[in-house]
Amino acid sequence: MSDFEGIRALVTGGASGIGRATAELLAERGAQVAVLDLDPSPVDKPLLAYRADVTDDASVREAVAAAVADLGGLDVLVNNAGTGAQGTVEDNSDDDWHRVYDVNVVGMVRTTRACLPHLRASAHASIVNTCSIAATAGLPQRALYSATKGAVYALTLAMAADHVREGIRVNCVNPGTVDTPWVGRLLDAAPDPAAERAALQARQPTGRLVGADEVAGAIAYLASPLSGATTGTSLAVDGGMQGLRLRPV
Ligand code: NAD
Repeated sequence: MSDFEGIRALVTGGASGIGRATAELLAERGAQVAVLDLDPSPVDKPLLAYRADVTDDASVREAVAAAVADLGGLDVLVNNAGTGAQGTVEDNSDDDWHRVYDVNVVGMVRTTRACLPHLRASAHASIVNTCSIAATAGLPQRALYSATKGAVYALTLAMAADHVREGIRVNCVNPGTVDTPWVGRLLDAAPDPAAERAALQARQPTGRLVGADEVAGAIAYLASPLSGATTGTSLAVDGGMQGLRLRPV
């Protein structure tokens, strides 16, 4: 992994889970890192923290402007903030669709729009979007969430095409089931969380959940000049879930 000395990065949803692991890894490697989150209170120094809601354009613009001023510019944007939804198309209301799409897709657009003028001034501009295997896997009981991540995948390709001649790379990571507070909350809601966790682990080709640090490693690679010729692509971080085409036995 290359050195991130001199690299200035912004991570949305960076106060928890994958975003937090990413912000911490980039900082450990020498980057200056700003976290933008609904609740930035868990964020510690040396990370910079800004409160913003990606569904609120004014708050995104304000937070990005403050972060870029404090960082002295911007080289890397990690569009990671996201929210979930379960069920089939019959289970989610129109309001659910608007709410989740607004966070997972339009939130990414708002943040990118605010950051692009600053990324254009960087010699190492890279955008990494947190997508999901849900974008292409056909997961049951995840209609709304999958549709938003399919949109994130398409958006990644479109943005990569639009900005390639400006020297801005755009890629995404497709995590499988990652051991984050989000997944912990879903497991805790089950009648027997320990049994549910064991069953979830047994469904993974590797027999374990993906670590947030492992997704952070993939994001850091795509953010770094080591991946300088890579744009418009996705990197699976799913313990082999998609590539091995394994099914639960
Ligand atoms: P998490 O709940 O641990 O962290 C999400 C962070 O995003 C939180 O800090 C939250 O405050 C922030 N956030 C949520 N809505 C926001 C908003 N409107 N504005 C600003 N910040 C907001 O979740 P996680 O598991 O780390 O998930 C992060 C990303 O990874 C999401 O995009 C999710 O879809 C994706 N993902 C997660 C998994 C998984 O198994 N955990 C798998 C595939 C993809």
